[in-house]
Amino acid sequence: MRSDPSGPWPVPAGGGEPILPHGGEPSDATDPALETVRPGQPTPGRTGRVGPGADEGLADPDGAGRRQRHEVWMRRALEVAVTGPDSTGDGDADDIPVGAVLYGPDGTELAIGRNERELTGDPTGHAEVLALRRAAQRLGRWRLDGCTLVVTLEPCTMCAGALVLARVGTVVFGAWEPKTGAAGSLWDVLRDRRLNHRPEVYGGVLETESAALLRAFFR
Ligand SMILES: [Zn+2]
Repeated sequence: MRSDPSGPWPVPAGGGEPILPHGGEPSDATDPALETVRPGQPTPGRTGRVGPGADEGLADPDGAGRRQRHEVWMRRALEVAVTGPDSTGDGDADDIPVGAVLYGPDGTELAIGRNERELTGDPTGHAEVLALRRAAQRLGRWRLDGCTLVVTLEPCTMCAGALVLARVGTVVFGAWEPKTGAAGSLWDVLRDRRLNHRPEVYGGVLETESAALLRAFFR
């Protein structure tokens, strides 16, 4: 499935599988901006922990714990998606139910966000942006190093860009979004090697539940 390192990145069918965490590589030989491009060289970002099970408990003893943690966090994001940020349970019926939760480096819940584009008439009112804003306000700084953003749907280009700008350490998302996704589906903003910050990315966490929520909305 991932034999071609130049992409496009295939969408995992099974779900729950990490998509090539790659934070930390300063540069690599396949970067077109470099003169030392050597076709056929392995992409550094695709080595090490790449592959089914490599990151989720089979090869990595810490992976099982991480997967469990991601699922717990995703359940919280799913809760946010349907109840709204004020937890009144009457989130705007016109807004696509997408929920996001921002966790601090120690796992503390810092902020939540639900898609409020229709409710507020704000084209940037996506769940991820709102969670980032609220977390930054709470911490009193724009840098969210070491934080983890958990969202029920693959981020769009705007949100992926915002996540990079906020220096979020890890992004965990539920359902894939083949039409607009910018975390591996249509684009891969989060892991673009031309950017100097690249979060670790885990896609397809509780994908079935996340996708079912959206399907129910559009039915
Ligand atoms: Zn978005």
